[in-house]
Amino acid sequence: MGSTSEPCLALAHYHDFNAYIEIQPQSLEQHYWVHAKLSRLFHYNRGDDNSRDSFRMKLMRSDHANDWLLIIPSKQLGTLLTTIEFRYLLRFRLGLTISSSTNQCNCCHRSLLTLADNAGDHALCCIKAGYVRRHYLLCNEVRYLLTSAGIRNSSEVYVDHQRSLRVDLVAEQFDEGKSLCLDVQVTHSLTHRLGEAALAEVEKQKSEKYLRACHMLGMTFSPLAFDSFGSLGPHSLKTLQKIIAKAVGDDSPQPIQEATYYWQRISLALARAVCRQLVLSLN
Ligand SMILES: [Zn+2]
Repeated sequence: MGSTSEPCLALAHYHDFNAYIEIQPQSLEQHYWVHAKLSRLFHYNRGDDNSRDSFRMKLMRSDHANDWLLIIPSKQLGTLLTTIEFRYLLRFRLGLTISSSTNQCNCCHRSLLTLADNAGDHALCCIKAGYVRRHYLLCNEVRYLLTSAGIRNSSEVYVDHQRSLRVDLVAEQFDEGKSLCLDVQVTHSLTHRLGEAALAEVEKQKSEKYLRACHMLGMTFSPLAFDSFGSLGPHSLKTLQKIIAKAVGDDSPQPIQEATYYWQRISLALARAVCRQLVLSLN
């Protein structure tokens, strides 16, 4: 997508805030970044052109794309990021090169020819850097959510043995007695040929692949399509809203806070999955 030149706007801001990059991401500093600096960065540049920077900013302005930044960092809850995770994710989201010492991918050994490649574009499309594994972190988090909602669920379920077709998750008796099949995919829209329409296209392809087989078994299907910057496909957003509503329940004393916590956990799982690939490829 667009230009591969160094993202100047982000870089200028990065230099302004560079002093904070090395700080240990303890609770207070992590939140400081969110409230004082990052929210300003993410809402900077409304994006009137087609540059990589503008598109990146647009992706990060989507619903729930930044939820992980607002989660309460806690070792006990597993929501405290390590220093390296936090640093890599900041550089990635600021559009900066991840590593100044790496000029080839550690996983597939391909040369990183452009600054955009070194800013994560290659890592997030490199099959050997955990392209497949990254969605397991998200599947686990969605399973946690289903279990919190009291919904029985199973993973890696065959829906068509002849075609060896299986979905990531099945939520039993989800809607009006019908089970819901779910299949997760993380897409790097920045490099996708369809750009902004990438997530909708992923959802369409997933539905074409699975819907008929699921219907034949008396089940429904929904894709769960995420972008690596955290945005969700339209159908995926609605499905997660439904699951989260069930997890929160009608009798929750703090429904908004509870729903927010679940969104933050999903968002954090995605950020961690992305970070894992960046570290593997570019560390
Ligand atoms: Zn690679």
